[in-house]
Amino acid sequence: MTPQPDGHEPHFDTLAVRAGIERSQFGEHSEALYLTSSFTFESAAQAAARFSGAEQGNVYARFSNPTVSAMQTRLAALEGAEGCVATASGMSAILSLAMALMQAGDHVVASRGLFGATQQLFGNILSKFGIETTFVPATDLDAYRAAIRPRTRLFFVETPSNPLTEVVDIAAVAAIAHEAGVLLAVDNCFCTPALQRPLALGADVVVHSATKYLDGQGRVLGGAVVGAKAVTDEVYKFLRTAGPSISPFNAWVILKGLETLRIRMEAQSASALELAGWLEAQPGVSRVFYPGLASHPQHALAMRQQKSGGAILSFEVKGGREAAWRVVDATRTISITANLGDTKSTITHPATTTHGRISPEARAEAGIGEGLLRVAVGLESVEDLQADLARGLAG
Ligand SMILES: *Cc1c(COP(=O)(O)O)cnc(C)c1O
Repeated sequence: MTPQPDGHEPHFDTLAVRAGIERSQFGEHSEALYLTSSFTFESAAQAAARFSGAEQGNVYARFSNPTVSAMQTRLAALEGAEGCVATASGMSAILSLAMALMQAGDHVVASRGLFGATQQLFGNILSKFGIETTFVPATDLDAYRAAIRPRTRLFFVETPSNPLTEVVDIAAVAAIAHEAGVLLAVDNCFCTPALQRPLALGADVVVHSATKYLDGQGRVLGGAVVGAKAVTDEVYKFLRTAGPSISPFNAWVILKGLETLRIRMEAQSASALELAGWLEAQPGVSRVFYPGLASHPQHALAMRQQKSGGAILSFEVKGGREAAWRVVDATRTISITANLGDTKSTITHPATTTHGRISPEARAEAGIGEGLLRVAVGLESVEDLQADLARGLAG
């Protein structure tokens, strides 16, 4: 955005539609999509200066691209961060962060109930390279403190968690991390900066699966690491060499998605709250997990830390797997898919899909029962979503 002559600081809604715009020689109004893998130089001397870093500018799309830069600038502005590095997916953002910050012998403390692939990455892949992870119950502050070792470099949490929507106290966990000189990373995929700003609460770095709400319409994969430049510069060094760079097309789709982020998140959250309240009143439902409900164990914390409860809820159906599958199979509007973060509502049975590969004992310990269903609420009419779920709940 053009700096304001009187030092006026633009607000979230203005940044969402204008941050990152640098018009080309054509003066285009909308954000240009630069589908080019490399860039030319005016002279041999300029090529040398660009390669050495003496002169800023684009060289090759694995390193940078103007459309990608615009997306990074805009997302950094919305998270209130100095730096942002976009990546090919959410998982490559998390991998890039780990690779940039750690080496063999280092240690991670992570909250339990992370996204499945994140859990696999820390538990089974980074461990092959000598980076160990201790998983702690997401809401047990003493467990984070007790898990710290001399070589602990990173705390990694996701809040609210999937699928039980447990809320991690970001400020409290940040304080524990900082006491030990450890960085706190927060996966802000579920809330997005429209509802939760982890950096303002004390986190050092935010990771995103931009595939979810940042795009918001289920079109492309993408990810990002957002935070202090000291961190994102290290992530950038890994990315430009190792190569999990985002496609300019995907970055452009996400850039445009950010323009409607707050409006979508607020509308989808409002519908989720309404649906959660309705589900609590259904005789076939034994329990509803949604941070916006007064019945949620961390409701007060969620209302302090987030602008609203978010758009994801889960609920336990009486009658176990059979009853839960009946609800899924009776839907005609809600999509049966494990994805989330779309304008179209989705439903999934975690025990046999996203959490199907973990042992029944571990699943039970995590509180993911056979009757549990997760709904990511989209932009449809709430009445239609209720009718869709009521069909299967009526049994
Ligand atoms: C989907 C997801 C990821 C992984 O993102 P991809 O874009 O699929 O690689 C990470 N964290 C959370 C919370 C997610 O929902």
